[in-house]
Amino acid sequence: MSHRILTGRVVIATHNAGKLVEMRALMAPFGVVPVSAGELGLPEPDETGTMFSENAAIKALAAARASRLPAFADDSGLCVDALDGAPGLFSARWAGETKDFSGAMARIVAELDRRGARDRRAHFVSALVLAWPDDHTELFEGRVFGDLVEPRGAAGFGYDPMFRPDGHDRTFGEMSAEEKHGVDWRTGGALSHRARAFVTLADACLRRPA
Ligand code: IMP
Repeated sequence: MSHRILTGRVVIATHNAGKLVEMRALMAPFGVVPVSAGELGLPEPDETGTMFSENAAIKALAAARASRLPAFADDSGLCVDALDGAPGLFSARWAGETKDFSGAMARIVAELDRRGARDRRAHFVSALVLAWPDDHTELFEGRVFGDLVEPRGAAGFGYDPMFRPDGHDRTFGEMSAEEKHGVDWRTGGALSHRARAFVTLADACLRRPA
């Protein structure tokens, strides 16, 4: 059960520009003041976990301890059914040092072809961890299921152009940030994995200013 309500400055423990933009937008209604790990000059810890939640906790705890502020981190990735969940934890690494996601998307298609796989089912996972300087943590997870298609659209980041969420005709790469998040604060509904995780986090640990 969560019981800590965030106020004041909160670190967004990511060096990923795409995630930073999304996290800031999601936090906007809640009156907290987001500061990024980059702005505070925090180092990037090694992601040595074997699960998304472990890596998110490593990043959030490192930032909370170093900054003495509450911090939250997302660890996320794309899991392709016919590739036994790959690239999964290694989603960022498949793009290499140059962050070449066209190459990473092409590699997914090449791996599927190599296996002769027709199944194009995949899902994104987001594990969000909120950590406090006293090492208290809270974990929230979100998933979104869909199909892999020919990459379309230049919005978003990472694997967005090749992911078409269930119930939609367009890929995440063709959606505005608002559509991709799909958050309805009235009903608590959301579309993207990160927004789904964030909605549960917000319900537990954030309050809208009066
Ligand atoms: P990490 O969590 O920093 O290890 O990186 C997660 C990686 O997963 C990102 O660099 C992207 O490649 C991919 N990813 C996570 N979330 C999304 C998303 O919302 N859209 C597209 N790609 C994503």
